[in-house]
Amino acid sequence: MTHPARFAFLTFVVGLVLCGAGIAVFTGSPSAPDALVFHNGTIRTVSGAGTVEALYIQDGRIAAIGDLDEVLAAAPRSVRRINLEGGTLTPGLIEPHTHPLAAALLATATDISGRTYQTREAIMTAIAEGAAQGGPSPWAISFGWDPVMLDDLHPPSLAELDALSPDKPLVVLTQMMHEAFANSAALEASGITAATPDPHDGFFERDETGALTGRVVEVTAVRLLMSGIPQASEAALTFLLDGAYDEYAAAGYTTIGVASLVGRARDPLTTLMSVSHADRPAINTILYTAPDQAGRAAPLFAGAAQTDALRRFNGIKVWLDGSPFVGGAATAEPYADTPLTRDVLGLEPGWLAPLAAEREALFSLVERAQRAGQQVAFHAQGERAIALALDAIEAARGASPDPDLHHRLEHLALITPEQITRARSLNVSLGFFPDHIGNYGHRLDALFGPERATRYMPIAEAVRQGAVTTIHGDHPASTIDAFRVMALPVHRLTLDESPLGQPVSGETALILMTLNAARQLQLDDEIGSLEVGKRADLTWFDTDPVTAIEAGTDAAVRGTWLAGQPVDTRDWSRDRIGLAIKAAWGQLTR
Ligand SMILES: [Zn+2]
Repeated sequence: MTHPARFAFLTFVVGLVLCGAGIAVFTGSPSAPDALVFHNGTIRTVSGAGTVEALYIQDGRIAAIGDLDEVLAAAPRSVRRINLEGGTLTPGLIEPHTHPLAAALLATATDISGRTYQTREAIMTAIAEGAAQGGPSPWAISFGWDPVMLDDLHPPSLAELDALSPDKPLVVLTQMMHEAFANSAALEASGITAATPDPHDGFFERDETGALTGRVVEVTAVRLLMSGIPQASEAALTFLLDGAYDEYAAAGYTTIGVASLVGRARDPLTTLMSVSHADRPAINTILYTAPDQAGRAAPLFAGAAQTDALRRFNGIKVWLDGSPFVGGAATAEPYADTPLTRDVLGLEPGWLAPLAAEREALFSLVERAQRAGQQVAFHAQGERAIALALDAIEAARGASPDPDLHHRLEHLALITPEQITRARSLNVSLGFFPDHIGNYGHRLDALFGPERATRYMPIAEAVRQGAVTTIHGDHPASTIDAFRVMALPVHRLTLDESPLGQPVSGETALILMTLNAARQLQLDDEIGSLEVGKRADLTWFDTDPVTAIEAGTDAAVRGTWLAGQPVDTRDWSRDRIGLAIKAAWGQLTR
């Protein structure tokens, strides 16, 4: 980091610490007794008990549920009561597929998403302003470029990006993070030249003369581009990740499934350990890593001292294809040939995306995981990728059966009803990414034609068939907003406000984000519903979220409890101040 940038960062942190310290002195840190009775609200148990009046928790576990009289009879006379004030208590919400480190890092980027800006001109201005600002990173990163959501967003040329930021490396990252645009300084800093070979799953775009255009496509190529960014200190990363953990908790989540540790860091696993294994983390952490990180992650997570929060290493994540919105979904039939696919995405007519994994190598990887009792989460959007995942799972299960182990399929844009039936028979859980409907539903016709647009992301069909079905936000690909993720499958409204495909009920949406997510994470004996003996992981809404979702209104999260302890998500709790000071010091001394 240059001296002016370091100074700016230090000033920023010290300023926050000073203004935060004043608040902290007056508020202190909350701590709670070990026994509580919740009453005077709706308590949705997401279990056979349905909706009840009262809940008694003791030593971090649920001790009784039922009518207030019954529950009070089970609790000690002096038990502290929590008045829900007419709000609703649900099982702690579970986000089964997210990337907290990337979410934390991109929280510092310039927001240029299609939900914030509607024209190319406004977006280019925001990028220029972002590049001109000093900040903790010597690179300028803009995040959320979205040519599929917006109409007139043709790709920025290298000359345009060089004019916006002549010296400072500049990267414009697309919303789904499967594509980026870099200026010359960024390409140079990452060591990418016209002679750099394309990776197996993507490319560095070249013009007709063979010169780089600055466009970088798919995850391996984007990762090489980002490898040029100087790394933040461990302490700064810890500070940012801790902030992301608070954000999940503020949205109502009590557990996240980390679907691999994407995000630029020297040692992402150590950063994750320091936040997930702190004394009182804001959420439980269930980890999946890239196959090459598993050997280190498994013993680290298993060997760490356990406190109240849950931490598990569950298995590995593999990518079988890319994003539907850059032409990356490995579909059975070609993409549609339209102005969007041809001119905006640059796909040839008859385009079929390659698979991102080689069949034999994948089969042996999945067999190894199966023998080790590790789950495999497969990124699979198109029918060909989904078929490959199911083939690999079937072979691995045949070679070493394990009734307690079930694998997971992720995102599932174009899964067919027959593939859902097959997944269910293989005990595979199905995780959907509803933001695709809200953000890109209006473009699906132009990408895939009407037949595939109507059967896109068939959440209701998966539920109807009885598959373990879940929903996720895949942050930072969407903003951390649990309520939105639950509401989308109920209304399935696209950006132009027209409904697309079959809806589920509000009650089902809550099940998808609680009990089913717990089943997907193989933790339904511990979390996911309010039943006696389970962990007291709880989310408190100001009003009933199920009724609100169905009415198309809002419900706000008022608080969460993790193992019976209230989670402190105030920006400047005492813990956050300590981390901020360490971050400032670490940034200066690294
Ligand atoms: Zn993901």
